Amino acid sequence: MSERPTHAPMDQFPVVDDCLLVGGVPLPLLARRVGQTPFYAYDRRLLSARVRLLRALLPGEVSLHYAVKANPMPAVVQHVARTVDGLDVASLGELRTALDTGMSPEDISFAGPGKSDRELAAAVASGITINLESEGELERSARIGAGLGVRPRVAVRVNPDFELKSSGMKMGGGPKAFGVDAERVPAMLERMGSLAVDFQGFHVFSGSQNLRPEAILEAQTRTFELVLRLAAHAPGPVRLLNIGGGFGIPYFPGDRPLDLGPVAENLRARLPEVRARLPHAEVVIELGRYLVGEAGVYVCEVVDRKVSRGQVYLVTNGGLHHHLAASGNFGQVIRKNYPVAVGNRMHGGEREVATVVGPLCTPLDVLAEKTELARAEVGDLVVVFQSGAYGLSASPQGFLGHPPAVEVLV
Ligand SMILES: *Cc1c(COP(=O)(O)O)cnc(C)c1O
Repeated sequence: MSERPTHAPMDQFPVVDDCLLVGGVPLPLLARRVGQTPFYAYDRRLLSARVRLLRALLPGEVSLHYAVKANPMPAVVQHVARTVDGLDVASLGELRTALDTGMSPEDISFAGPGKSDRELAAAVASGITINLESEGELERSARIGAGLGVRPRVAVRVNPDFELKSSGMKMGGGPKAFGVDAERVPAMLERMGSLAVDFQGFHVFSGSQNLRPEAILEAQTRTFELVLRLAAHAPGPVRLLNIGGGFGIPYFPGDRPLDLGPVAENLRARLPEVRARLPHAEVVIELGRYLVGEAGVYVCEVVDRKVSRGQVYLVTNGGLHHHLAASGNFGQVIRKNYPVAVGNRMHGGEREVATVVGPLCTPLDVLAEKTELARAEVGDLVVVFQSGAYGLSASPQGFLGHPPAVEVLV
């Protein structure tokens, strides 16, 4: 029992009188203030603290961008936008949210395969940078720009000739829907020279949810090498060098927080050469989950408590329709538990092993399987930690027609 891997401690939220505090508010009060369960709550102080931590660790010349798709709730994007240097969007909807914050268009970029003409036109008209995912997007952007009388700002998203090792999700290396294969980029840059577009630079995003500093720093080093090679073919000075991110957070038993020390050290070692060879380039790291993931909880309420053949089931009003990732159905191969707790009895008196499920009529609707919790009763509040990223917006809310969850920034 004792050597079983455990969750990292979820000590970013204080506990007072055995209740979890989110945004400084005890959970039962917060539930009343929200007016319903289930809900997502994001802690604004934790959002700010995470950016401060990154600023303290990373070299000052590195810019921080927020990848909006991790959590597109407008209040969250507004809050984060005030603390970072730029926003990265992946759809027209996210672009509108990003522009609403007042962030300067020069500091917004748009990545993602399959941008429609309407999306490209919105990007050109607003003056943001389009991270081109293909030669076709270059041609269409140039044509749309000519029609609008605006020179599109473009960068090339490169599909590198290497992978980000040990990533939760690989998004570069080998054949991919994302980016232009590195070996095709020189010809594309040459073509760009004959089109009315403003070349900004390069974007290399090779993967996501990585907890191994050596893998991240190796990918960053190889990204710098690749971009320095490609820059020789650029039609103008490289102004933007987005080296991706991929910083992970601990979700599952045995996961430990990412040690950013070696990553920061490697950046300090590499940046002087980059600065010397690309003196106009702003080096950008774009992060989604690392900025917002640990600042959010999902809260649902126990509706029924039952015992089936010796196993305790806590049936809640929340589930995979609001939180697909915690149910294990968002890119997990083997289902593992997110960290959960009973938020109004964090330690409780008696403890027991229980399985937390949702109300959907499918065996996939599991929030935590056989996990140790304070003994919970009907009306108690189950909290799923690490829920600030890829939560509500990454879940099939319409499935089975239960009421939607709400989101609050506290
Ligand atoms: C999804 C995505 C991100 C954010 O990834 P995280 O794992 O949330 O940090 C950043 N950049 C691009 C291009 C993406 O597609």
